[in-house]
Amino acid sequence: MVIGITGGIGSGKSTLSKLIHRQGYPVYDTDKEARRLQDEDAILVQQIKSLFGENIYADGKLNRPAVAALVFNNTELLQKLTALVHPAVKQDFIKWKGNYNSEDLIFIEGAVLFEGKFDLLTDKIILVTASEDIRIQRVMHRDGISREQVLSRIKNQIPDTEKALKSDLVINTDRGLPDDIMQSIVVWQH
Ligand code: ADP
Repeated sequence: MVIGITGGIGSGKSTLSKLIHRQGYPVYDTDKEARRLQDEDAILVQQIKSLFGENIYADGKLNRPAVAALVFNNTELLQKLTALVHPAVKQDFIKWKGNYNSEDLIFIEGAVLFEGKFDLLTDKIILVTASEDIRIQRVMHRDGISREQVLSRIKNQIPDTEKALKSDLVINTDRGLPDDIMQSIVVWQH
């Protein structure tokens, strides 16, 4: 069974994923693997160069701040980039999953599981939530950015109310992760 873990920025989804990983379950981190693929996947690198020009890579690494500046306020360009990256990540996830055929539960974590239709590759979805004020405080502290910067990132994501309707388990982390969280998840193990 493939379980997706999603949630807005600062919701605590990485914290939950780390806990699950520490319990011995395989967890695919879509943000991390997307970054790796954008640097290392030959086909994807070529496609990104076609979109932004050769110079968007320096020393074999994608210049992320430059990409961020180019796609900021350019929805069309951002969509084009996403349309290249998401299929590459999906393909990589399917390959990764093949290593774990004997596992009962494997996990895929990402902020954009619904937006990127990664939910179609999962059997269950866990939505991690926290109140907006708490998320803002956490991310300001974690990333050293302003309240306004956090808010602009939150505004770019589909609201939790909508995601909750499509999720199998919703975990609120305002008061920390519930102690019995693993029990709620392992019920899916057969
Ligand atoms: P996400 O991956 O959803 O953006 P993280 O798991 O990275 O969120 O959490 C964001 C920040 O908040 C991190 O610095 C993390 O240590 C902290 N954090 C996460 N969950 C909690 C919690 N339950 N209580 C307090 N701080 C938390």
